[in-house]
Amino acid sequence: MELKGKVSIITGSGKGIGKAILLKLAENGSDVVINYMSQKSEIIEDIINQCSSFGVRAIAIKANVSNHDEAKDLIKKTVDEFGRIDILVNNAGITRDTLVMRMSEKDFDDVINTNLKGTFNCTKHVINYMIKQRSGSIVNISSVVGLTGNAGQSNYSSSKAGIIGFTKSCAKELGSRGITVNAVAPGFIETDMTDVLKEDLKQKMLDAIPLKRFGKPEDVASVVYFLCSSLAKYITGQVINIDGGMVM
Ligand code: NAP
Repeated sequence: MELKGKVSIITGSGKGIGKAILLKLAENGSDVVINYMSQKSEIIEDIINQCSSFGVRAIAIKANVSNHDEAKDLIKKTVDEFGRIDILVNNAGITRDTLVMRMSEKDFDDVINTNLKGTFNCTKHVINYMIKQRSGSIVNISSVVGLTGNAGQSNYSSSKAGIIGFTKSCAKELGSRGITVNAVAPGFIETDMTDVLKEDLKQKMLDAIPLKRFGKPEDVASVVYFLCSSLAKYITGQVINIDGGMVM
């Protein structure tokens, strides 16, 4: 029960990687806030019940993290409910893949606003509380394409590269306040986001993975848990690839 007494917000945690992170933190004793935007209420209820079975408190807050006021409200409601906030995982993310020559301004803006500005919005509001507590862990979900770039993902890879710069800047600003800020860069993880990719592209990616399998949401969740635990208290400003060795 490493995280007993802690309170965690995981953005976009109604499915996929965010849900796996949420359950991992709850399993290890943290009270949790499920943030979602369009997930069905029965699925959110089911996640709350799973968390209760671990003996922790879970609440769900609907908020669009790309909206500054809604992000502020998400953090405020959490502190109103639990009285503190220890862990923020900026996980909410979208793709709008196409070549630059075909990309609309909206496709670019939507991805930057959700992935990068959403990370800024939640971080900005959460640190007000963490600075007063003089403790906190923030983990941002980047991507290997933020390091390598990817044809058809100029908007997405820009947002994920931006998250890496944001992570390192925040780590430098907040280290003296007892707050760690790290990022993880997943490779190909099996979720709804990657389910839509064509089979030949999936095979090409699989061929490039030394561990010869795609990642699972739980592979990301265990590393995020480590970064939020006391085992990682001397780690900040780092980006950890979780990609089966795809990028090295
Ligand atoms: P996913 O299954 O599509 O889940 C995305 C989540 O983000 C959903 O829970 C969604 O909430 C939420 N979300 C989207 N826009 C939001 C907004 N404006 N406000 C609040 N929540 C919002 O994708 P995933 O694969 O689990 O991805 C999770 C994170 O990992 C993303 O940041 C993604 O870029 C990153 N990542 C994924 C992979 C991969 O291979 N899957 C690789 C590298 C990085 P609702 O469903 O409620 O709308």
